[in-house]
Amino acid sequence: MEYKYTSIVLGKRDVGETDRIYSLYTLEGGKVQALAKGVRKTGAKLAGLLENFTYADISVARNQGMGKITSSVVENGFPSLRRDYYSLSKTLSIFNIFNKIVDLDHKDPAVFMLLREFLEAVDSQSLISSTMKAEDYEDRIELLSSVFLYKLLDTLGYGSQIDGCAECGKEIGKSVEADVFFSARSGGLVCSECGSKTGNILSLSGNSVKLMHISLKNNLKSFARLKAQRKDVNHIKMAIREILAWI
Ligand SMILES: [Zn+2]
Repeated sequence: MEYKYTSIVLGKRDVGETDRIYSLYTLEGGKVQALAKGVRKTGAKLAGLLENFTYADISVARNQGMGKITSSVVENGFPSLRRDYYSLSKTLSIFNIFNKIVDLDHKDPAVFMLLREFLEAVDSQSLISSTMKAEDYEDRIELLSSVFLYKLLDTLGYGSQIDGCAECGKEIGKSVEADVFFSARSGGLVCSECGSKTGNILSLSGNSVKLMHISLKNNLKSFARLKAQRKDVNHIKMAIREILAWI
């Protein structure tokens, strides 16, 4: 049987003399693995069509066990992202995390759309990087990466409670001026009373929590124009790191 997958190439590893196993995130089947025969031979055309991050229509022949990749038609290779060192290394680290937290064979079109949107957003920013100050550009990529991970965790069912205290349900002031407490173990924000009883709490800026709210309500593209303080983005990163450590 031949299967056609709308795919994003997540990664690859060498096997045998000239083969590779590719990890793909597909619209039709979630994360799948497939073998590409002879792809490391000199002149093998398929290799160039299966680079990391490539968005492509990939055909896989499968009867039993792991399928074999028979063709790849590239839709978008995200050339600007690839040419920019900062975007490239950031995307690599995001893909490492993605690979760790996304299981094989769980179809989730929302995750596929989000991943594609992330690549498109970073690629568009990379395209105009020379028109921006390096610092502003890096902040923008950091913001997109953090918002992507926060949305991804939420889509995968690891969302955090940010409307009220995750322990007692009490409303938490929405002031962006005041700091609030966050505990991945509790599952989100915690009030000061519960915070004093819970270990491992983070203190997050009110603005970073506002950013979390905005993240869940908007698509990634709208963050391409948003200017956020580095401190607030760092606070979201801290919360994400805590959540990742818990799952
Ligand atoms: Zn509480």
